[in-house]
Amino acid sequence: MLEPSPLPSLRLSVPVLSARSTRTDAAANRAVTLSTLARLVASGTAASKADLVHAAGLARTTVSTGVDELLSGGVLRLDGLRPTPGRGRPADRLALRPDGGYVLIADLGAHGAYLAVVDLSQRLHAHTHVTIDVSDGPDRVLDTIEARLDELRAPLPTIAPVRAVVIGVPGPVDGVRGVPVRPPIMPGWHEYPVAARLRRSFDCPVLLENDVNLRALGEARALPADQAPLLFVKVGTGIGGGLITRTGVLHHGADGAAGDIGHVRVRGAPDVRCVCGNVGCIEAVASAAAIARRLGTSLDQARTLVSGGDATALGLVREAAGLIGEVVATLVHFYNPARVTIGGSVAAASDELLAGIRAVVYQRALPLATRNLVLANSVLGEYAGVAGAAVLGIEQTLSPEGIEALAATGSS
Ligand SMILES: [Zn+2]
Repeated sequence: MLEPSPLPSLRLSVPVLSARSTRTDAAANRAVTLSTLARLVASGTAASKADLVHAAGLARTTVSTGVDELLSGGVLRLDGLRPTPGRGRPADRLALRPDGGYVLIADLGAHGAYLAVVDLSQRLHAHTHVTIDVSDGPDRVLDTIEARLDELRAPLPTIAPVRAVVIGVPGPVDGVRGVPVRPPIMPGWHEYPVAARLRRSFDCPVLLENDVNLRALGEARALPADQAPLLFVKVGTGIGGGLITRTGVLHHGADGAAGDIGHVRVRGAPDVRCVCGNVGCIEAVASAAAIARRLGTSLDQARTLVSGGDATALGLVREAAGLIGEVVATLVHFYNPARVTIGGSVAAASDELLAGIRAVVYQRALPLATRNLVLANSVLGEYAGVAGAAVLGIEQTLSPEGIEALAATGSS
């Protein structure tokens, strides 16, 4: 059946009433309540009505009515009994209905993509890694992604529909319009309607997100809530950042460009021309691509040299860590994160990167900003992006808007 999942249990956020809601307060409130209850069950936070009263902070009657509605709407089901501590009678255990549907995930890097299918209970039904090259352009790459996602879901029961598709790409995106915006390493993708195309192919909502944002979200939701605000720094072929707020949600900024730290210029960096056209960007001087270029090898060969402990390669990693550390120290001052997570292929290949960044940050940042700071490698590794995409896809399906569609199909 299912392989051991590389995904841990992920916390889901609880929705808030949209200030822009044009619906009546009562209807909007009801949808938010149903969404809250369903997400608390889906995240494993609550498994009974009593748990929900405690976790949602709602009145017992509100929870009871909402749960009954989710049961009759076919969103939740009763899953046996759960012993209650003390002398109380066992409580009904609540669970998401297994045929509630799937979320399809495609987490694209420059040269490969992780694909996965999860259900609304966060169970991973299938996953794979495919080789792609984003520089082949959107038509060719998305043909491959669509075909491989179809293969992945082919063995699954067709009774459960696809509820959402989440796709991450290694470049800046406008998530509202679902298009990449001037992505430096993705020729041909600028303004390409990625979300619209996948919406036509899979007939469901599609979320387009930056790949590092997905990793940041996955990491933050796999860790205890007190590890946010969280800053994720990916050091791979390129360098990128993602920012999670104290309440555990992505900070996109005004145009979706927040966290895109690869093109920050650092003091003392060599005058290397960057793919973005500027000179001395951190990505141009401290990424895996920069290290490989200075070693005169391919990316794969460079990774082998680094993980094998080659002295020259490790020297370059240390140099890169010093430059990245300068950027991270500045960000730590500005944002005061609880945790900085370092991920990507360079971090995975050697602990020298984390050690080097740590040394600079603790030396340069002031005590107040570093007193409780945790600076660590990614706990999810290469599956952080899939985890973040699962969170987004399930939250979308169990959103106040999504839950009514789900109940409408579940009860029929
Ligand atoms: Zn640049």
